[in-house]
Amino acid sequence: MHNNNNDLTLSAPLSGPVLSLRSVPDPVFASGAMGDGIAIDPLNNTLHAPCAGQVIQVARTGHAVTLRAANGAELLLHLGLDTVELQGEGFALLVEEGQQVNAGQPLLWVDLDYVAQHCRSLISLLILTNGEGFDLRHLPLSSVKVGEPLLHITPRANQAAQAQTQAHSSEQASARIKVAHRGGLHARPAALVRQTAEGFSSRSQLIFKDQSASCSSLMALMGLGIGEQDEVLVSCQGADCQEALQALLKTLGTALAADTHAATPAPAQIAHRPTEDGVLHGVCAAPGLVSGPLFRLNAIALPEDLGEHQPQAQRLALSAALDQVRRDIRHTLEQARQRRNQEEQDIFNAHLALLEDPTLLDASDAAIAQGRAATHAWSAAITEQCQVLQQLGNPLLAERANDLRDLQQQVLRALLGEAWHCDLPAGAIVAAEELTPSDLLQLSAQGVAGLCMAAGGATSHVAILARGKGLPCLVALGQEVLGIGNGQQVVLDADGGRLELAPDPRRIEQVQQTADSRRQRRQSQQQQAHASALTRDGQQIEVAANVASSEEAREAHQGGADGVGLLRTEFLFVDRHSAPDEVEQRQAYQAVLDAMGDKPVIIRTIDVGGDKQLDYLPLPVEANPVLGLRGIRLALARPELLDQQLRALLQVTPLQRCRVMLPMVTEVAELLQIRQRLDALAAELGLAQRPELGVMIEVPAAALMAEQLAEHADFLSIGTNDLSQYTLAMDRDHAGLAARVDALHPALLRLIAQTCAGAARHGRWVGVCGALACDPLATPVLIGLGVSELSVSPPQVGEIKDRVRQLDAAECRHLAQSLLNLPGAAAVRQACARHWPLHP
Ligand code: PEP
Ligand code: MG
Repeated sequence: MHNNNNDLTLSAPLSGPVLSLRSVPDPVFASGAMGDGIAIDPLNNTLHAPCAGQVIQVARTGHAVTLRAANGAELLLHLGLDTVELQGEGFALLVEEGQQVNAGQPLLWVDLDYVAQHCRSLISLLILTNGEGFDLRHLPLSSVKVGEPLLHITPRANQAAQAQTQAHSSEQASARIKVAHRGGLHARPAALVRQTAEGFSSRSQLIFKDQSASCSSLMALMGLGIGEQDEVLVSCQGADCQEALQALLKTLGTALAADTHAATPAPAQIAHRPTEDGVLHGVCAAPGLVSGPLFRLNAIALPEDLGEHQPQAQRLALSAALDQVRRDIRHTLEQARQRRNQEEQDIFNAHLALLEDPTLLDASDAAIAQGRAATHAWSAAITEQCQVLQQLGNPLLAERANDLRDLQQQVLRALLGEAWHCDLPAGAIVAAEELTPSDLLQLSAQGVAGLCMAAGGATSHVAILARGKGLPCLVALGQEVLGIGNGQQVVLDADGGRLELAPDPRRIEQVQQTADSRRQRRQSQQQQAHASALTRDGQQIEVAANVASSEEAREAHQGGADGVGLLRTEFLFVDRHSAPDEVEQRQAYQAVLDAMGDKPVIIRTIDVGGDKQLDYLPLPVEANPVLGLRGIRLALARPELLDQQLRALLQVTPLQRCRVMLPMVTEVAELLQIRQRLDALAAELGLAQRPELGVMIEVPAAALMAEQLAEHADFLSIGTNDLSQYTLAMDRDHAGLAARVDALHPALLRLIAQTCAGAARHGRWVGVCGALACDPLATPVLIGLGVSELSVSPPQVGEIKDRVRQLDAAECRHLAQSLLNLPGAAAVRQACARHWPLHP
């Protein structure tokens, strides 16, 4: 109506009571998803133009018209709610697309009675759909008549010119969909939604429970608190709105492939035994009992901010720090990509998206503008969003707060120029979400006393490393462990799966005494470690060590190991980008043999695929890698790899001390094929003898076929880590299932019994090289079932030998049989503790 310097006053297009958008009974409009505006409950039957302009869009079904005013403002005039469903019935358009109209000109006629009877509501809307360039001011009116002033629109500074030239499309498309992602719209699916929306020029929003979030903000998307199977409204606006809508519907309606992990309820909820005051329960990944101050890894405490910082300098500092962290994450992402670890890739992609999130960046920027330091501005922005996520009542989203905290710390480290290792006092107990193998090595070098992880599995490689270092470690403690104040004295009772948060001085003293007597016992065990382990009734049990390098082999030999029960050859070259050649491999194997004096060494052929990936050996992506081309299957599919390894193995000296072992065997043909290959290569090399050839029993099929395998194998060695995974159908690295992936399950014991019986028929010996061999509670059971070799982590050799010496093999045989009939792993553990108690 009135147009001065691009300011615009809109007149009422209809007569009737005026409503605010928030009171419109439609979430898309009420949430402002379509833009700011006003609603009128019409009393007249003709819609009029609120200003002069061009008709840029008319709905096919005749219920809505969009005008573009001379200053660029785009105005959607929408008659009634859900009137699209009337398919044009009850409406008559009075203008057409492209037509220029005057203020007040009739645009649309409506049959009020018909529409009122056939639709949800007559409430009609006037929406400014490109509001980012304008300020909209409402006039305080309770009702209006056609032509009366209703709203003022003012282009924002610097945007007036742009607004005039910008040719926004006001096409709009929306649809509802149920969110398929396990656990709802947590960080990774939200990142995917954002990524999808970014592929289109349309602006897209999700609307849920009267709140809307732009698809460009991860924080806003997560902040909606959308749960699995919640129905959301997707609304897209722009030239490619249909395409954007379809793509978003697909993204929301298709669960992430790796969601099984991501959506695991917090371990705290399922891995835990009934709660006890002041105690967190977890799963033992490496045994031990220690007390000490707990430190959250990497938590940086900021000094007080005195404010009055120069905003420009702080902005630059934050931007440089963010760049650095992005580079680091991209590097990690690249490594995950090379390892084809989709789940890690999803997580790091989400982290990258979080680092670009407008909610976080805007909040930091606003605080910096007020003179705050970049460190504090960033830290506060994250803390605020963590609170939002934690208040949503969705455990999975609450868990994502930890991702934010990780980013908070990473950026703070970059801002403060701090190195990775914060000052941990020796003897500290470290708490972290999940540690990587390299974290663990650094921490162990810093002299920490124990490790606690919120997530993680007891059979993960970190757990294997922790056992190797003799560091007590609990996993799957749940997120609570990350909220404990730095420096708080705790007791980490890894054997009992407990983290005591408020031990009194008496308890700490008791733990220290126990630790002292353990140390003494350990010393005496060490003194006896080089002697053979004979049971009380004279049966010899070989106690060997699992090693990953010649250094560990040396440690094992010094620790009294009777041999190497498992050399994981894939660990030897894990940091390499190029494949080791035959000579390098031979040298590495020889070094392990040399480190072991005159003791035998079992070298397992390369076991990649599944969870084990090597940089230099890219493998095809598989839907189910753990059930795919892994272990011996891969070796048979890539005969040149296997030949090279076998040739290297055949050249070590003395060959009698080298035993070759095959991973993941499921049938006799695999064994025979390798045996023939070994014979042929030995003949080519002019060797008269060949090494012993054994088979790992780590798949139920192999255990059930032990007798047939034993006919052609020189020995069998049970890999209880994989055997548990495949027998119980539980991922060995699954934090939420860690407490239940227990190899003392009677089903596993039956398979072990069957393996030993099958081997005995051909006079072969059976060892155990999986983690169960390291569990002293299991020692009598394994001996009782017929196992004669236990391959353990190097620091445990003395302890397990000591345990063997306290046992009577005949009694073990007798009692072990009864365990097979127990109902579950817990009952087996209880029975073992009763029959063969451990030292306190
Ligand atoms: C096992 O599966 O138990 C085993 C010893 O092999 P790895 O842990 O290397 O898979
Ligand atoms: Mg295995």
